[in-house]
Amino acid sequence: MTPEHDAPQDAAARRAIPPVVCYPTETLPQPDLHALRAARAGWTRTATVPVPPREARCFEVPAGHFFRIISVEGPQVGDLNLWSADLSERFYSGKTRALHGTHLTTGDRLWSNFPTLRPMATITDDTLDWYGFDEHGGGVHDVIGTRCDPYTHNLLSGGGQYHHCCHSNLTRALAEARHLPLAEAEGHIHDVLNVFMCTGFLRGTGQYFMKASPVRPGDHLEFFAELDLLGALSACPGGDCGGEHSSDAAACHPLRVETFRPAARPDGWQLPAPRSYDRSHGT
Ligand SMILES: [Zn+2]
Repeated sequence: MTPEHDAPQDAAARRAIPPVVCYPTETLPQPDLHALRAARAGWTRTATVPVPPREARCFEVPAGHFFRIISVEGPQVGDLNLWSADLSERFYSGKTRALHGTHLTTGDRLWSNFPTLRPMATITDDTLDWYGFDEHGGGVHDVIGTRCDPYTHNLLSGGGQYHHCCHSNLTRALAEARHLPLAEAEGHIHDVLNVFMCTGFLRGTGQYFMKASPVRPGDHLEFFAELDLLGALSACPGGDCGGEHSSDAAACHPLRVETFRPAARPDGWQLPAPRSYDRSHGT
């Protein structure tokens, strides 16, 4: 909206203050990418999980194993949820964004919620790492969108009912995988990593935008599991997310998840410890 207040005389000086990175990463423990990647030699594929269009599927990955999300058939975005295998920890998209930025790539990690705040998975390969940021400010694999969901769709469409948003797909998949009532499963669904999605914020208005994903069949995003994980991946009803989502209008394609067991534990790797904050909160 148009500002209702005049800018102060020193507005230019205030705006010219250089930005400070909120979370400098010099003290952030770094993964040993070389050791993790070396562990891929001689690995064995342990599972292949097809994810049909406008549906989600769950998959399990033991700590120390790898998984890949693979583009098959056509450009397609995937919405990823991650939990510890016992569902006590979940992926914390917001803090991951604060630590690594709006879009993730090789070397970045998916962090868990409080109080553990530990890496759940480390990205070990990204065939779209060449994309970087385009002229519109768009990048790939964001942690800024939340997930398409039937509530926002209902709000913006004047009461519409659509049942194949990623939120609902993930809910059904988790309910089925863990034999949970729908409402209980829904409570575990959280903000996602938008795999292969191309997004950014419009300069000027700050609005969240998406554009057709640059992903092509054969591309993949690869993760090393730092904990025993349960994952859920939804093949978004938006397809490549170049048009609309929350409907059956877009061309949609399947995705595939593959899991791998390395021949040996990566050199020097151990289960990440939970944070040691004492949780007294000053009392
Ligand atoms: Zn979606």
